[in-house]
Amino acid sequence: MADVPSFDRFFIGGEWVAPSSAETFSVISPFTEQVIATAPAAQPADIDKAVAAARASVDGEWGRSSGVERAEAMERLYNLFLARSNDLAELITAEMGSPLLFSHLGQVGAAGMVLDYFVNLTKGYSFEEVRPGMLGPALVRKEPVGVAGGIIPWNVPLFITMLKMAPALASGSAIVLKPAPETPVSGLVLAQLIEEAGLPAGVVNVVPADRGPGEHLVTHPGVDKISFTGSTAAGRRIGALCGENLKRCTLELGGKSAAIVLDDADLGAAMPELFGSAIMNNGQACVAQTRILASRARYDEVVEAFTEAARSTVVGDPADMGTGLGPLVAQRQRDRVEGYIAKGKAEGARITTGGGRPAGLDTGWFVEPTIFADVTNEMTIAREEIFGPVLSVIAYDDEADALRIANDSDYGLCGTVWTGDVDHGIDVARGVRTGTYTVNGFAMEFSAPFGGYKASGIGRELGPEGLEEYLELKTINLPAGTEPKLRS
Ligand code: NAD
Repeated sequence: MADVPSFDRFFIGGEWVAPSSAETFSVISPFTEQVIATAPAAQPADIDKAVAAARASVDGEWGRSSGVERAEAMERLYNLFLARSNDLAELITAEMGSPLLFSHLGQVGAAGMVLDYFVNLTKGYSFEEVRPGMLGPALVRKEPVGVAGGIIPWNVPLFITMLKMAPALASGSAIVLKPAPETPVSGLVLAQLIEEAGLPAGVVNVVPADRGPGEHLVTHPGVDKISFTGSTAAGRRIGALCGENLKRCTLELGGKSAAIVLDDADLGAAMPELFGSAIMNNGQACVAQTRILASRARYDEVVEAFTEAARSTVVGDPADMGTGLGPLVAQRQRDRVEGYIAKGKAEGARITTGGGRPAGLDTGWFVEPTIFADVTNEMTIAREEIFGPVLSVIAYDDEADALRIANDSDYGLCGTVWTGDVDHGIDVARGVRTGTYTVNGFAMEFSAPFGGYKASGIGRELGPEGLEEYLELKTINLPAGTEPKLRS
């Protein structure tokens, strides 16, 4: 297993700052169940320091820098990130149990690509524009939102950090990052790279913290915007606190996405990607396709294909490149997933494979890849986000029924349709109320907005829209005939 460093300081104002208390987080390997590292747990006093450092940088040169200057700083970080990406992937696997192949691609590779996308977007972005106006020209400026708080979950820690940090930096804002208690180390290792890249002091501050100090960040008067990714329950609470304080907020929450298998789909060709998109990251992904919708005509065939795919998944040490499914992040998470499996059985769904702990893996928080058949969309396992390798196959009568079931969810994050006719697939996509959709595959496109309808969230990340979440708009009305010089 990769060496996971311990930390005893926070990264605040460009320096390694001693914590205000002796509280620490123990990072427990999901595979060995042993403590592999420790990191300090921030208290309100530490959060206060981080917010003050971020404020000083926004009020200083960083807040007035040009997009090109900021892109140069971000590019230095990108180059270091790229050079260290193998180590970072191994670190994430050790820290939270993601299979190493997914850590390379979905955790670290994708994080680097997001940073690269925002480097290029920033270089060419117009932070000022002139409109003709009624009485004279109007100069519309897109100014940094100010100090952002980024609250990060443990499932894809560096990727989600990048979804928040990269646009914050692009905008000229500063950010206080609060990694989750389960994954504090990857956040602090990123801080080392930020230091090495020579980003100006205070533009990024890293303070792992639990919920209480996290709420202190959310309600802090020095924080202008919160960007949160995590559970819908926590998102409701954070959104309410932001509402009380009239603070801007972006919420990326849970999902219960439906994969619609149409009768003309080539199931054999689709299965590797379809199954992969359902259990990626050990099923701990908000975008996972966890409701599989199959017509009654093809129902048995689809159940059989999923059962076979689950049975042939290699379950084991996440540090092996050949592993398809590793352990869940924590004992608490396994308890939760096992609770849902018990509920599925109690409500009358039928397990075709899995449902227990894999034989021979007595250590580590493993759950077998589990397929439920005979699931109705009313059952708890079809309605709630399980966040584990547990899939429900649901029968539909006709395509209208499939759309009805796909839309009958509190969530609306993403979805997929599998069909022999791509144009028809686009029509299906138009009919589903989700923020992201893919026809014949599973993709997250970094140049296009990503986010949820309904209880899946508010706001968007990625694309120019993701940058705009970190920009305030200012209109400066000018006398007729003025030709203002624009700043980039
Ligand atoms: P969580 O949403 O409680 O925690 C995510 C992050 O938010 C952590 O950094 C946590 O410390 C922080 N947080 C939580 N409440 C907060 C508050 N009131 N103020 C400030 N920060 C706060 O998730 P969890 O408890 O780790 O996991 C529980 C379930 O949430 C999972 O089983 C899964 O279903 C879901 N989840 C979803 C996602 C996602 O990306 N959609 C990510 C993680 C967890």
